[in-house]
Amino acid sequence: MNEVLLSLYQLQRIDSHIDELVANRGELPERVAELRFVLNEREAILAEIENRIEVNETEMRKITSDTTELREKLDKYKGQQFEVKTTREYDAISFQIEDADRRLREDSDRMGRISIELENAKAEAEELRNELTEMRSEFEDSEKLLNQMMADTAAEEKQLQGERKKILPKITQNYLSIYERVRPAKNGVAVVALRGGVCGGCYNAVPRQLVLELNRGEKHTVCEYCGRIIVGEVIGTAIDGVPEPVNHEVEESGEATQ
Ligand SMILES: [Zn+2]
Repeated sequence: MNEVLLSLYQLQRIDSHIDELVANRGELPERVAELRFVLNEREAILAEIENRIEVNETEMRKITSDTTELREKLDKYKGQQFEVKTTREYDAISFQIEDADRRLREDSDRMGRISIELENAKAEAEELRNELTEMRSEFEDSEKLLNQMMADTAAEEKQLQGERKKILPKITQNYLSIYERVRPAKNGVAVVALRGGVCGGCYNAVPRQLVLELNRGEKHTVCEYCGRIIVGEVIGTAIDGVPEPVNHEVEESGEATQ
């Protein structure tokens, strides 16, 4: 029996087994990754809103202290207005008073605008915080489930990966590159064994002469229907054991009557 073909078929069995483990995890790994991504994104938005709130609150404190200062000045100017001796002094004070009045009005407008902004930002942050609490709990549950699932299959997967690593050097580069190319296109199955004269991948019949040649276990063919690599039944049996008896007998009796 050709050792390379035997190893190639064995690699397929190992990879199919790994695929099965991965398939059993279903969409959970993707879901966890997606949740993590959205969670990070939302947390960044919340941080940005919280930062905006802080900036606005600092601004509010500054305006409040400016207003207090302006009011004090205004009181002082108003007091001085009665003590001036010349028209020029009176005009100068009046100008100061008008200016302080104008600035007080401007500050009051700004405070109004900022407090509306603050109110909106705080409501937004609150909503986001609630949303995040829910998302975090969903994420943690999914992650826990995934970790549990991974732990359950980790040992098995590790063993399979170990077997895979051992088998790889026994296969020629030529076969490996065909294998890697065909596998993704054929639902993960690039190499099949003959089963009673039909392709083990698509169940189409293989020419009789070719079946005989393949079953010596020394060569392969490419299925003209599904494009998979077909090895002899003898290789399949060597790796998988004897095929299910019912199928086998049906095929055998079919052949016998021909
Ligand atoms: Zn086929």
